[in-house]
Amino acid sequence: MSVSKLNEREKRYVDGLLSLLEETSPSVRQFYLEELENQRNTLKLIASENYSSVSVQAAMGTLFTDKYAEGVPFHRFYAGCEVVDKLESECAEACRRLFGADFAYVQPHSGADANLVAYWAILSQRAMDPILEEIGEKNMSKLTPADFTRIREACHNQRLMSLDYYSGGHLTHGYRMNVSAQMFDVRTYSVSEKTFMLDYDDIEKAALEFKPLVLLAGYSAYPRAINFRRLREIADKVGAVLMVDMAHFAGLVAGGVFSGDENPVAFADIVTSTTHKTLRGPRGGFILAKSHLAPFVEKGCPLVIGGPLEHVIAAKLVAFKEALKDDFKTYAANIVRNSRALAAELVSQGVSVLTGGTDNHIVLVDVNKSFGLTGRQAESSLRSIGITLNRNALPFDVNGPWYTSGIRLGLGALTTRGFVESDMKEIASVIKLVLGSTRPAKSTSKDGVVGLSKTLFELDSKAESEAKGRIAKLLEGYPLYS
Ligand code: PLP
Repeated sequence: MSVSKLNEREKRYVDGLLSLLEETSPSVRQFYLEELENQRNTLKLIASENYSSVSVQAAMGTLFTDKYAEGVPFHRFYAGCEVVDKLESECAEACRRLFGADFAYVQPHSGADANLVAYWAILSQRAMDPILEEIGEKNMSKLTPADFTRIREACHNQRLMSLDYYSGGHLTHGYRMNVSAQMFDVRTYSVSEKTFMLDYDDIEKAALEFKPLVLLAGYSAYPRAINFRRLREIADKVGAVLMVDMAHFAGLVAGGVFSGDENPVAFADIVTSTTHKTLRGPRGGFILAKSHLAPFVEKGCPLVIGGPLEHVIAAKLVAFKEALKDDFKTYAANIVRNSRALAAELVSQGVSVLTGGTDNHIVLVDVNKSFGLTGRQAESSLRSIGITLNRNALPFDVNGPWYTSGIRLGLGALTTRGFVESDMKEIASVIKLVLGSTRPAKSTSKDGVVGLSKTLFELDSKAESEAKGRIAKLLEGYPLYS
């Protein structure tokens, strides 16, 4: 797959789309063109983004958007689903095959959706089902109000153990602002204060003490491989369901970078994911499950979600087929090569990289330690010269989740665009130049106190224009849709 140059058919497709929109919706056409310029003229280092193929985008823009299909293939609550039944079955089978799973469920609209379905599938199996068994009635609608209340209460306050948000866990893993924290009694584990990596003995100790129903692993911002065999052992010791959210690194699993103990599919009872990060598909989610959980996952609609988005499922199928090809393995390996090279270059230029390197697509930089900036200032300063990335909270962050002390760099998108290891020296050097030339600006509080802002910054104008020129030169080498 190449995004540098569209082939003739892709070009005709995009031209056709633009001329249609020109007639029907000029503002949408204009926004499309503006976004194209935005993505074309900046260095996209956002770890959760990528560039999908035009085929993925085209499959999403189809009449499948018009079809309702509540239920599962061949067992629907809507008529006229004969074709989408075939589409969805083929998509689930491609997904199952790609990851070597027992079962795949491709209806979740997003990663957050997938996690919610997974939680409720686990609760259905472990908390609801034993009660239904005891009552001798499997049909929820036939339960007495008292029995239904018993079921609801059994599902509430079950224990979930997950990676702390500051250590790289996701909001949906029991963060208080998310519904997951209201559903579960949550205990988090953190990375080690010394190494900033997972300490499995510590996790085991905490799990033996807390005895969670669900032991959850997975991250949004953690740069190292995880030993899932070890987590399986811990889950077995405490009788927990092992759930893994591989939203970020699904492409590295599909591409064979994470194999053996580092492949969650072999060890987890249930694995959730997005389709749009390193996997390079449309925005969406999916779930893989071992056979014992499959019947509960399959009830995701109506348990959590409504009608599946069949147009997105069509695009997921295109993406899974792309990932099944041999060149996806090369892509996945190149992501890690690029990430390691960028981390090594930053370290060699004296920048503080968490854990000293990376095993995946993520590089975390402590901009507070290296440059005396908040993540927010670093993010804005880099954006001003054409590098797009996210600020990110770091373990034990003194600046909180809004300002943060870190930035998260991800190499999935640039690797799709064609960047190679030898480009990383220049990228690291521009980042160092810009952040080293950025200072927190002074600001005055409501009470008239003058201090250093955590948001506003000043970037030296000479460094700014030099960095802009160097980014433009880097981008010239790897055009997007030229
Ligand atoms: N899980 C993890 C680990 C994530 O990083 C994210 C998104 O960044 C999600 C779930 C949520 O995915 P979505 O934005 O598709 O809901």
